[in-house]
Amino acid sequence: MREDGRDRKASRASRTLSSRRLAVNGYRLGGTTGLAHLLGMIVTRFAPSPTGLLHLGHAHSALFAHRAAREAGGRFLLRIEDIDRARCRPEFDAAILEDLAWLGLDWDGEVRRQSEHFDDYRAALARLAERGLTYPCFCSRKEIAAEIAQAGAAPHEPLAAIYPGTCRALGEEERRSRIAAGAPYAIRLDVGRAIEAAGPLSWRDLDAGTIVADPAIEGDVVLARRDTPVSYHLAVTVDDHLQGVTLVTRGADLFTATHIHRLLQALLGYATPDYRHHPLRTNAAGERLSKRDGALSLRALRATGKSPAEVRAMAVL
Ligand SMILES: [Zn+2]
Repeated sequence: MREDGRDRKASRASRTLSSRRLAVNGYRLGGTTGLAHLLGMIVTRFAPSPTGLLHLGHAHSALFAHRAAREAGGRFLLRIEDIDRARCRPEFDAAILEDLAWLGLDWDGEVRRQSEHFDDYRAALARLAERGLTYPCFCSRKEIAAEIAQAGAAPHEPLAAIYPGTCRALGEEERRSRIAAGAPYAIRLDVGRAIEAAGPLSWRDLDAGTIVADPAIEGDVVLARRDTPVSYHLAVTVDDHLQGVTLVTRGADLFTATHIHRLLQALLGYATPDYRHHPLRTNAAGERLSKRDGALSLRALRATGKSPAEVRAMAVL
């Protein structure tokens, strides 16, 4: 059923696409990223989180982005995504730089660390709030899980994880009094209103072609958390814009997130980069590589005497 609904939506969106594209191009010419787009320069980035050691999966992503830039004579940037201050550690940050250098990957310009740019994210959030596109959510994780269960969602359905929008209906007075009383809250995007404001959107995936955005796919996403002034979605969108990234390359697990990022780009008046989503590296059991696969960390491979060239060959397999 959902597929049918999406198809209808897709054809509706594609009918209005050509007129929207002009508006999007208007942004491209005016935006910061516009110049790189205009000159056709490729700017890619690798953006790991310092929550553990880099493994072969990270090396695959980094090499993919590095090659896309270098083959086109473009720029390859490094960004450390360390907004989660509780999980990120400086020793992993240092290890990332060292492992990439050992692997033979050079990056252009300064490393951007998200934790040093909270003001940029606050400013973007304020712009969305001014347009009435955000709202405070006072729900705890436990309450959200209970609300979803009550709504009768099947436990294995992917959509079951979507926030049901409980706090969207709260009145202005109620919001103010809860905040004044010191209740902790996150900031969510009112996706329905945001889609209405942005109109139909699409992006170019260099492998899959033109993708019609369906930003409702993850519901009213969190833009700022109770304990962190920004979420992954907003930080990445702002950073890619400020760093002038023209080609976002990342794992296929983030394909869904691109629908949200495309919407945020439109709302904030940013240029839209092209995208490539590569398959994720898996372990012998066919599972996505994680910190548990310590033996496949670049450090561990290096300790066994493997050369950078050998590890690069393993990573691109
Ligand atoms: Zn809520």
